[in-house]
Amino acid sequence: MQEPLINNAILVDAAGSGRSLAFVDITPRRRSQLAQLGIVTTLDLLNWLPRRYERFHHGLPVTQIKVGQMVTVQGMVVQTRLHRRRPMRFEALLEDASGRCVLTWFNRRDLADKIKPETLLHAAGKAGIYKGRIQLVQPEIKIVEKMQPALSSDGIEPVYPASADVSKRFIADLLVQHLEECLADVVEWFSEAHLSQRHLMPLRQAYRQLHRPVAMPEIVRAQRTIAYHEIILFQLALEIRRYHQKHSIVAEKLRTDNLVDQRIRALIPFDLTPAQNRVIAELRQDLSQVEPMNRLLQGDVGSGKTVVALYAMLMAVAAGKQAALLAPTELLAEQHYESISQLLSNSRVQIELLTAGVTAAKRADILTRLASGELHMVIGTHALLGNPVEFGHLSLLVVDEQHKFGVHQRAMLRHRYANVHTLVMTATPIPRTLAMTWFGDLDVSTIDGLPPGRHPVSTRKVTGAQLPDVYQYMQQQIRDGRQVYVVAPAIDEGVSELDNVNEVLGDLARHLPAEVRIEPLHSRLSAEQRRRTMDQFRAGRIHMLVSTTIIEVGVDVPNATVMLVRQAERFGLAQLHQLRGRIGRSSLKSVCILCSDDDSDEAKARLDALVKNASGFRVAEEDLRIRGMGEMVGTRQSGMPEFLFPDFLLEIPFLQMTRRDAAAVVGADPHLIAHENIRLRHEVYRRYEATLLLADVA
Ligand code: ADP
Ligand code: MG
Repeated sequence: MQEPLINNAILVDAAGSGRSLAFVDITPRRRSQLAQLGIVTTLDLLNWLPRRYERFHHGLPVTQIKVGQMVTVQGMVVQTRLHRRRPMRFEALLEDASGRCVLTWFNRRDLADKIKPETLLHAAGKAGIYKGRIQLVQPEIKIVEKMQPALSSDGIEPVYPASADVSKRFIADLLVQHLEECLADVVEWFSEAHLSQRHLMPLRQAYRQLHRPVAMPEIVRAQRTIAYHEIILFQLALEIRRYHQKHSIVAEKLRTDNLVDQRIRALIPFDLTPAQNRVIAELRQDLSQVEPMNRLLQGDVGSGKTVVALYAMLMAVAAGKQAALLAPTELLAEQHYESISQLLSNSRVQIELLTAGVTAAKRADILTRLASGELHMVIGTHALLGNPVEFGHLSLLVVDEQHKFGVHQRAMLRHRYANVHTLVMTATPIPRTLAMTWFGDLDVSTIDGLPPGRHPVSTRKVTGAQLPDVYQYMQQQIRDGRQVYVVAPAIDEGVSELDNVNEVLGDLARHLPAEVRIEPLHSRLSAEQRRRTMDQFRAGRIHMLVSTTIIEVGVDVPNATVMLVRQAERFGLAQLHQLRGRIGRSSLKSVCILCSDDDSDEAKARLDALVKNASGFRVAEEDLRIRGMGEMVGTRQSGMPEFLFPDFLLEIPFLQMTRRDAAAVVGADPHLIAHENIRLRHEVYRRYEATLLLADVA
């Protein structure tokens, strides 16, 4: 029996996500609008943190305002004007003792009824200049009864995220009025000594700093404090899961003697590189333990991960057990099946391909042989995960291109095959920071470098106008016996702004001589058609494939040396790197041409990152830098939890600290039941029980 990790009695005691905001005097309508933003309790309100801070110069005389400053001005409206022509614009001329400035709003017709000559108001915003006068565009205003004495001090003002219903101002006012009451509900998770050793502050103080800021350096320290608390929760969840895997789940030990090693190596037609040998040694070490292996193998495209996985699979077979290899697409599964069964053709290993494409009869036969244990190896897509698939004695599961599988699919796999050794592989290198977080519960092996004799692909950027030259170059390469890939973002003209395979085919046919054989490849062709095309391409009878990203993973045709990507800015950096991994798979020099007419800075920066960096690790790090951690982890599809301050996930020393701290806590108190850890336990389970399937271990 597995030991339960959750004890509900404790959770109830440790309740404390704040009180309902019921004590706040607002209308039920307001309350439900807040609830829609997820603000229900005092702690929710505290966690509604300012998006940024503005430094305000309060109550400056208008003549002293400098362009670019954040200011508040106060004065009397002397004239207003509504320009009805689009974009509709409303202007008010504001006068104080020193002079006049203009307040301008777009699409705020409603203000024409509120702001009239002689209205007294305060306006806050960023100063610009218009027709020689200081102008505030779209300022925040407050209409007042009488002028206040001029404010002199400068201040930092929090700017809150808002929704269509709930304004920044409303939230700011709510927090001004109720900050102390909300803070009273904050319970500290760590001792002051623990926090101050790490140059952090108590939670309560951090929230106060963030909502009622006094100085910029303190704001940053407060943000670090909140980030520490949220990241350590995540690290704790991973540690708990890891601890559980280590201690309560048992897998089968596999034999690792030299005879097995020799027999496996005899099947591999080339010498393994030192990096491959090092990883194999790590795998052998893992597989000889009863603790289930849980390893991520990362290695750039073409670095030779498959053969390393095959080694491990053969270890399972040698032990009389079964191994399964899971690929994200049928094309890749087929490709693996072909190359692996070829290597095994002189052995007695029984291997089959199980995809959605196999006939019902074949499928039934495979399932029977899997259940009896007679079949040693199976390669498939997620058809392999369907419920009826039972293994006689599955001992190793390999998941190729694991980033292509959804997070939930991954968690399900982990859950279902908990006592099976698992190797996940990826060519989308995981930046170190992510490896330490999202993949923090995996052991990581890396194949660095490429098999001998490979040259890195050289990458260039061109515009649409240069395509005729590119076609010329491709024709030359084809004449020299090489083959070419052309990739487009769409299949047909469904989305009008995207280049599509059909149109590109026509374009190429017009520019290239008739003897150049060009064929399309995309997901809408039948599996049979796709296989025929790939076979002919591999045999060299097709010179050029025009495809979608379907070729992104797994396709291995060493004679292909040129790739043209149309509208390259439409693809993710990691994806482009994967795509260009289809070439440069032999000792021949290969060129990847990225065509783009997008001259935005971001598009340029991203494509330049590929031109400059041949290594996938560097590309991934650049990608992270350009897009920011928030983009990368904050999106729902990434499956990463959302963090209030995701950018702290980029700081390696900070991550190391949270990881070390989490490991120390779990090491000393694996179930977080010690008195001082109950708060942490409550928070970890509240946040991660569902996402990380922590509940499954109970
Ligand atoms: P990836 O890591 O991208 O999955 P593959 O496993 O598909 O890469 O390997 C790319 C190519 O390199 C394959 O054709 C494979 O047979 C070949 N290869 C792998 N290891 C070696 C090696 N040590 N020496 C020569 N060729 C190798
Ligand atoms: Mg591969």
